[in-house]
Amino acid sequence: MRHAKRDYYEILGVPRNASQEEIKRAFRRLARQYHPDVNKSPDAEEKFKEINEAYAVLSDPEKRARYDRFGHAGVDDVQIPQDWADLFQIFADLFGDLGGWERAGSRRPTRGRTLNVTLTLSFEEAAFGGTKEIHVERYEPCSTCHGTGLPPGARPQVCRTCGGRGVVRQAHHTWLGTLVQEVVCPTCRGQGVEVSGVCPACRGSGRELRQVALHIPIPPGVEDGTRLVIRGEGHVGERGGPRGDLAVHIRVRPHPYFHRQGDDVLMELKINVAQAALGAEVEVPTLEGTARLSIPPGTQPGQVLRIKGQGIPRPKGGRGDQLVIIQVEIPKRLSAEQRRLFEELARTLNTQVQPQTKGGLFERLREWLSG
Ligand SMILES: [Zn+2]
Ligand SMILES: [Zn+2]
Repeated sequence: MRHAKRDYYEILGVPRNASQEEIKRAFRRLARQYHPDVNKSPDAEEKFKEINEAYAVLSDPEKRARYDRFGHAGVDDVQIPQDWADLFQIFADLFGDLGGWERAGSRRPTRGRTLNVTLTLSFEEAAFGGTKEIHVERYEPCSTCHGTGLPPGARPQVCRTCGGRGVVRQAHHTWLGTLVQEVVCPTCRGQGVEVSGVCPACRGSGRELRQVALHIPIPPGVEDGTRLVIRGEGHVGERGGPRGDLAVHIRVRPHPYFHRQGDDVLMELKINVAQAALGAEVEVPTLEGTARLSIPPGTQPGQVLRIKGQGIPRPKGGRGDQLVIIQVEIPKRLSAEQRRLFEELARTLNTQVQPQTKGGLFERLREWLSG
């Protein structure tokens, strides 16, 4: 694979005449981006190793000079640290906290994971928001040890290895030279105290799964497919670590006759031919009950009537409208009386029966529905 190696400058994305400071900056940025604990893409680890290797060479003026003259062949002997724990410790020292990785076997508290829940709302609940109670399984502090992970009645003693500091000094021989660094005390694993044994209830994790009731604040007008993130309401971490987040995936059930379009609520209303011609006062359902709707004389099929302020509440106040799409029902069967009246009507209208040009109603309906 050696022949396939990428150019180190290219890997770090710096020009060949980059200063040491530029190289260091590029490396820090990339190391953060591809750290396997942060970046979960499958090639992150390979990328991360590649970045380290490039930095190991370019950060050392002597090795860099050899690489500039002879390419990869000039630096074949560069030792790349393969021990991840060492590598991570070096990074921690270089950068301070990169955000959240832990040495394997650490007994320090960890941050809890995100708790994902799906919440299905009715059309009205989504429109008006409010608070919704859900019951979920969530990691809670262990009720036996109250989150410490220690056995009941445990008497912590000051750690004899580190004297309570939680860290010890260690010499490391690495590609950065010999580093004397502070590492987590192997005896107390950073706690500074020694306790023998762990809580029998949680086996030292300091937490347990419990059924809990959560009250989810639903913002008015929330849409199907929204992901609400509530900080610090997820699983509790191990050994008393902080909670992760709660991610609520919102689903909205379709309504039997309302359809949402932005802030507006659409519905279809069937009226009869007389109501369309003469006009009428009708009651229509709204999100909150009913409203009176005036159908003006001469209302056409597909005409849209607007009921102001009866739509979806907006986050910053105000509401959309309710749009009523008029359907005119033509009677399929007529009584003798109705037939006589229609015939009379036809005479007075002096109607010639002729084919209609297609489209009007469907075009308009489609326009309204597609917004
Ligand atoms: Zn416990
Ligand atoms: Zn210790």
